[in-house]
Amino acid sequence: MSMAKEEESLKFDDRIMKPEFSLEDGEVELSLRPKRLEEYIGQEKVKENLGVFIDAAKKRNEALDHCLFYGPPGVGKTTLATVIANELGVNLRVTSGPAIERPGDLAALLTNLAENDLLFIDEIHRMMRNIEEVLYPAMEDFGLDIIIGKGPSARSIRLDLPKFTLVGATTRAGQLSPPLRDRFGVILRLDLYEPESLAKIVKRNSCILGINCEEDAAQEIAERSRGTPRIANRLLKRIRDFTEVAGERIITKMAAKSALEKLEIDELGLDNIDRRMLTIIIKNYGGGPVGVETLAAAVGEEVVTIEDICEPFLIQVGFLVRTPRGRCVTGLCYKHLGFSRL
Ligand code: ADP
Repeated sequence: MSMAKEEESLKFDDRIMKPEFSLEDGEVELSLRPKRLEEYIGQEKVKENLGVFIDAAKKRNEALDHCLFYGPPGVGKTTLATVIANELGVNLRVTSGPAIERPGDLAALLTNLAENDLLFIDEIHRMMRNIEEVLYPAMEDFGLDIIIGKGPSARSIRLDLPKFTLVGATTRAGQLSPPLRDRFGVILRLDLYEPESLAKIVKRNSCILGINCEEDAAQEIAERSRGTPRIANRLLKRIRDFTEVAGERIITKMAAKSALEKLEIDELGLDNIDRRMLTIIIKNYGGGPVGVETLAAAVGEEVVTIEDICEPFLIQVGFLVRTPRGRCVTGLCYKHLGFSRL
């Protein structure tokens, strides 16, 4: 492989293992989304709590309390909002923090809701503060304050909104302003999944995608999916391609392993980008500590990409630690990559 080609294939944006939504997930992701709570796999505690709140809201024929879901990308926050709307039998309107550019955009969304509807705002921590302020009376009193006129003659009138439920999702709960956070009655954390749950998701989705996936193959895919259903789905689709091109109709463990090898994803779910970054720390910086800016420059990426996309998983598997003086790789990582410590 030429140097230029290698560089090209090492881009973070189109890597298979990134947990964020990418265009290639598109329509298929929609078809793989569970529709009812009983189809939603894992996150037992969250499901149990929500199940009670949904039943209570249905019995009283009231809107569900405003809910905030937080957790890493790709773990099912949007899916959960869809599931709730289906369970309640109400409409779901979907938007995201950065998509709402002016207070008027939000006002338009709110005034178009029907009684008990669900408004889902993804990446709610990225909403602008002046827009956020429109939400406060809407969430609290189901009211919308509108200013009419300008200057000294300006006056404010209040419009009544239908009783609705706001479902917010965020990967960064800490960045939410306290007044907004306090207005959510239900705050639930979604965690990364255990391989057992991911294997169930892979099995279920292979049926939807029209291919048979053996139990141990699903387990193999699950173990390399970094605890994230979105990644599990993506791997499954790629492995299905390999299997079908080989003229097979069943994904066996061997077929899964060989496809994952071709995709350069190892037993723990590390890809070549992870390995390259860790190798740079070991080879160029004696295993660390190395400052994140220096590391970003050495890898040729932005600091936020390193911090938000690369590091969380590497820290979680115990290969990398953040210290006040910079990033260090661990003995576990040396062993996994086959380096001996000096
Ligand atoms: P998030 O909003 O947290 O980024 P999504 O809700 O978009 O994540 O989930 C990504 C994909 O992962 C969904 O399309 C769905 O196929 C799958 N998925 C997520 N959570 C579950 C689950 N609990 N059970 C089954 N599939 C899931």
